[in-house]
Amino acid sequence: TDIEELLLSRIRDVADYPEPGVMFKDITPLLADPAAFTALTDTLAGIAERTGATKVVGLEARGFILGAPVAVRAGLGFIPVRKAGKLPGATLSQAYDLEYGSAEIEVHAEDLSAEDRVLVVDDVLATGGTAEASIQLIRRAGAAVAGLAVLMELGFLGGRDRLAPALDGAPLEAM
Ligand code: 5GP
Repeated sequence: TDIEELLLSRIRDVADYPEPGVMFKDITPLLADPAAFTALTDTLAGIAERTGATKVVGLEARGFILGAPVAVRAGLGFIPVRKAGKLPGATLSQAYDLEYGSAEIEVHAEDLSAEDRVLVVDDVLATGGTAEASIQLIRRAGAAVAGLAVLMELGFLGGRDRLAPALDGAPLEAM
């Protein structure tokens, strides 16, 4: 669609960042363009409404930038999933493997309940490891997953296939 074309045209390819051989997708040109940022927010808010979400979870850090205005636009609460050690209250933690080593993400346990259906928002789906861990966190908190919405999917990394079991039928939407 025209909107998807606009959005993808505002993502900049940066070669060899953060390391040689990686083509990094930089979303800052999109954020700086109010028409594109508004169109993305509206599109994601539409997904939140269609999927019956009651909360928006944003993944640190660019998922915060994209997810927070979606929550406001859709009239839903926003919940940050953060890297370990950043949240001050009682948390649930989920570890996951990276190419080299591992990482851990956390959420405030009191922010989610069994009544919630959560739309997870992030900028880029790469291997799917971060999204998979966030879905596990949400389910462990007792909430349901309404879906995962990303600006961009790096299809060649196979994240969609990896996420299929965790999503368990919930939609994965990419622009
Ligand atoms: P994954 O866990 O799917 O391998 O990596 C996804 C996470 O890394 C996301 O939170 C995303 O923000 C970040 N990420 C990985 N590759 C890129 C990229 O090329 N561009 C941007 N903006 N983020 C990326």
